[in-house]
Amino acid sequence: MNIHEYQAKELFRQYGIPVPDGLTAATPEEAESAALRLGGPLVVKAQVQAGGRGQAGGVKLVRTPPEAGNAAAALLGRVLRTRQTGAAGKPVHQVLLEKALDISHEYYLSLSIDSAAEQVALVASGEGGMDIEEVAAGRPERICRVNIDPFIGLRAYQLLELAGAIGIPPSLKRQFTSIGLALYRLFTEKDCAMLEINPLALVENGEGKPALVALDAKAGFDAGALFRQPDIAALRDRAQEPPLEARAFDAGLNYVSLKGNIGCLVIGAGLAMATMDAIKLFGGEPGNFLDCGSNSKTEDSREAFEIILAEPGIEGILVNVFGGITQTDLVAAGVIEALRRHREQLPVVVRLEGTGSAEANRLLLDSGLNVQLAGSLTEGAEMIMKLVASQKGRKSRPGAML
Ligand code: ADP
Ligand code: MG
Repeated sequence: MNIHEYQAKELFRQYGIPVPDGLTAATPEEAESAALRLGGPLVVKAQVQAGGRGQAGGVKLVRTPPEAGNAAAALLGRVLRTRQTGAAGKPVHQVLLEKALDISHEYYLSLSIDSAAEQVALVASGEGGMDIEEVAAGRPERICRVNIDPFIGLRAYQLLELAGAIGIPPSLKRQFTSIGLALYRLFTEKDCAMLEINPLALVENGEGKPALVALDAKAGFDAGALFRQPDIAALRDRAQEPPLEARAFDAGLNYVSLKGNIGCLVIGAGLAMATMDAIKLFGGEPGNFLDCGSNSKTEDSREAFEIILAEPGIEGILVNVFGGITQTDLVAAGVIEALRRHREQLPVVVRLEGTGSAEANRLLLDSGLNVQLAGSLTEGAEMIMKLVASQKGRKSRPGAML
């Protein structure tokens, strides 16, 4: 789960990471009065949960309160499309007004999870401000990376070394180190999946001395840990999530929309991955990743199936469940309910094995619905691809049905 920049900056403040003074506004009038309170030149920043706002016109420099009001009016209520939002864009319901600082250099600093190494990875670069992917592609030597041993944690010497490697001025190495340590503390205490400061800017503080300030803040959290982070869970903004993913999240499903043509309803993340592989093996493209919880009941399976039906571009659905804890007869009942509600003509192949599968298959056979049963994953993947191909053939040659 992601949060907004202004919320991430509030967490930064709590952990002692320097951020510019700022206020949020949801209307142009609020923006104007916030500008009056903050004073001086400001930036007005669209609050959407995606980067690339600067280049997409989502960060505006203003000098006076009326200008701030106008900038807010131009952003609020709009859908902002950046290179990270996808074509649908994201709605702007709030802006953040912040003191505009005079930047002399932009650094990059982030923490994320390196799942292969089972460690938190700290990434830093002297080339901040732009997409780190671009730097990684063009000048990989400019990216420094340190993996953090979970038993030892992040140590000051690692940050001091990094500071040298990315060109932090010697007088600011201690500040860089304390920012890095605070970021790591925030990461571990709040169950983050990623934290990113881009740019971490070199500016002049009020007394004419150089200082580092986090001008941008991105934070993502492990959805599986939200139950023990109620303060973080409360920050969720459903409007920023793709609608089907938001609906799946509400239903407690682990769901990712993909671009392919075959929907997959699977229980267990590993089996979901294997199912996607099998679909690809037979020439299809998965239209979603879905791992229903192993405690799925009829209504969970029905909701999951309906979400897949609502996914654009789906031409067929493969249900693949190996019931251990899961009662596959409840899954079958959910699939039947969803199909009866929607009267979909899509090809559907179901492979249910394990607990309750005899009853499950009987329910499906007796349902009178056009559902094909498969005995194995391979067979199921092959069947769904054949059915989708023949359905397409029928559609393109209507006369062939006569
Ligand atoms: P995004 O990453 O979505 O484009 P940022 O918050 O990084 O948004 O802002 C884009 C750029 O705008 C930054 O790289 C920085 O150059 C500039 N900027 C952002 N906040 C401020 C600020 N408070 N003062 C001066 N410049 C800023
Ligand atoms: Mg940024």
